[in-house]
Amino acid sequence: MNAQLLLTSVQKCYGNKIGLELKKLALWPGRLYILTGPNGSGKSTLLNILALLTKPERGELMYAGERITWKSRELSLLRKKVTLMHQSPYLFAGTVSDNVAFGLKARGVSGEELRRSVAESLAMVGLDSFEERNVTQLSGGEARRVALARALAAKPELLLLDEPLAHVDKESAEVIEKLIASLPARGTTVVMSTHDQHQNDRLGGEMIQLHGGRLEQPFGLVDNLDTSECKVNGAPLCPALKMHIA
Ligand code: ADP
Ligand code: MG
Repeated sequence: MNAQLLLTSVQKCYGNKIGLELKKLALWPGRLYILTGPNGSGKSTLLNILALLTKPERGELMYAGERITWKSRELSLLRKKVTLMHQSPYLFAGTVSDNVAFGLKARGVSGEELRRSVAESLAMVGLDSFEERNVTQLSGGEARRVALARALAAKPELLLLDEPLAHVDKESAEVIEKLIASLPARGTTVVMSTHDQHQNDRLGGEMIQLHGGRLEQPFGLVDNLDTSECKVNGAPLCPALKMHIA
């Protein structure tokens, strides 16, 4: 099976400072990854690369076994499969429904299909009756749920969430957590960043820990390696050794 997304020897610099440096990171289809690390550790940089919004200076990305060439035609196809929800998502003026429908309309979805997709996405975030509500009448947590509904409406294969629970009220946080936990079983690969070290205890995902732009302790990443490269004299390395290579 191919990784949904595989990063090899990726480096992203800001001026002469390294923002991110990863030897290898594989995201497998239908799994949940919790990306943790202190402020400035490279979480948002990594998410922007995974979302194909930032091209790293070095390294290679493969999507479902195909090398990404960063050509605009290819990117526009891939960006239909990969969606990033930013840490402070922007809702434009109008109704909740307008916002959730936005990406769908851009893809040519209309009529009954559009109406149904919007309703389904809002139901997933527990805002069924909010379709005609103006976005100025939403709480911070509700606005985040609308942004999440908009991201889900596109039915991405890979959903990237940058701190989706930061500054969110308890009720919205519970809805969002529950939804995120349910997505892998629906076939969506999810990477969510958080600076809450205990997030993983509640969501049961695999941890990707960053520190200073590098993978820290590759806990849970044993199978995150391309095992074909983890061989000594043709014999695969034991899991404990593999962990040190990541
Ligand atoms: P996190 O999301 O974990 O807080 P970031 O990916 O935002 O971390 O940042 C990683 C490092 O790169 C930090 O040191 C940050 O200051 C730096 N950085 C991020 N974006 C930029 C930028 N646009 N220009 C310069 N430095 C940046
Ligand atoms: Mg960040």
